[in-house]
Amino acid sequence: MRNLITGGAGFLGSHLVDRLMQKDEEVICLDNYFTGRKSNISEWIGHPKFELIRHDVTEPIKLEVDRIWHLACPASPIHYQFNPIKTAKTSFLGTYNMLGLARRVGARFLLASTSEVYGDPEVHPQPESYRGCVNTIGIRSCYDEGKRIAETLCFDYERMHGSEVRVMRIFNTYGPRMLPNDGRVVSNFIVQALQGKSLTLYGDGNQTRSFCYVDDLIEGMVRLMNGNTTGPINIGNPNAYTIRQLAELVRDRINPKLEMISKPLPQDDPLQRQPMIDLAKQELGWEPKVSLEEGLQPTIEWFRETLKKHS
Ligand code: NAD
Ligand code: UDP
Repeated sequence: MRNLITGGAGFLGSHLVDRLMQKDEEVICLDNYFTGRKSNISEWIGHPKFELIRHDVTEPIKLEVDRIWHLACPASPIHYQFNPIKTAKTSFLGTYNMLGLARRVGARFLLASTSEVYGDPEVHPQPESYRGCVNTIGIRSCYDEGKRIAETLCFDYERMHGSEVRVMRIFNTYGPRMLPNDGRVVSNFIVQALQGKSLTLYGDGNQTRSFCYVDDLIEGMVRLMNGNTTGPINIGNPNAYTIRQLAELVRDRINPKLEMISKPLPQDDPLQRQPMIDLAKQELGWEPKVSLEEGLQPTIEWFRETLKKHS
């Protein structure tokens, strides 16, 4: 299999690169290095079945591949809000260009969509049939609406051109290789705790999220690409935690004496989020295996090593 992974030098993309390279497949990793790092995939550079291309998906590209795993897009609010117009371009034009490529070469196409398509959900937990509650003009809209139009494009390519598409709605995922300055909650809390700083709770900390360990997520992604289900399909861990509970878990593992401080809740921050994964269980035989308590340990160790290297 010749695979193209867009966003392959990023957090999830690089774990997918590892997974496919370990299966002896051919991998082209394409990235503009906005939030990706060469160090994430450095072990494969020079391998005969691995190629690395610096490219921005907002520009078309011609390549011969069998499968396109389209992950290119910043995922953390601070990164996707850094240049929201670029984020919208990446979501729309990037997906359009990659679907165009998939159509030309007859490749199967997987979109890394997101639970953000549900916005600040009124239905809880969220099944795939829920259509969401998304602000079209807020600071998260470039990403949320960007992913919604990306999903739309996939299904229009399927209807108009018979393209083989797979749409995966990813819920909050964590693990080694998140950037220390990523800004998402798991990495923020771990980095703050390792640096002996107070943990920053946005709002009252009672909002909930469900955290999936990266290995589980990649397993779900591979099953979706290999299977016959088009989706959209939720892939995430259904165990919900309040953000305060997460802060306590991290603090107790690193330094129980640390304080928690309150910061304002960002605009449109969803109050609750939890995937229904019945479809993934039924269609892909998939469910997560790693609990938050288990997954935090290797993640903390990875950040400990990374911060040491940069100190
Ligand atoms: P990430 O920021 O680590 O990875 C994104 C990668 O895409 C980076 O390597 C970045 O440099 C690259 N990129 C960004 N814009 C690009 C462009 N215009 N052209 C080429 N490359 C570009 O984020 P991640 O957590 O690995 O997320 C990967 C994908 O999964 C994203 O599409 C994201 O929306 C989706 N997702 C992730 C999560 C999560 O919890 N990690 C949740 C929902 C959805
Ligand atoms: N959050 C927090 N402190 C932080 C970073 C995030 O309390 O230092 C909160 C944030 O307001 C949100 C939740 O944690 O309610 C998850 O935030 P993240 O950015 O990780 O993901 P998303 O909001 O996209 O689910």
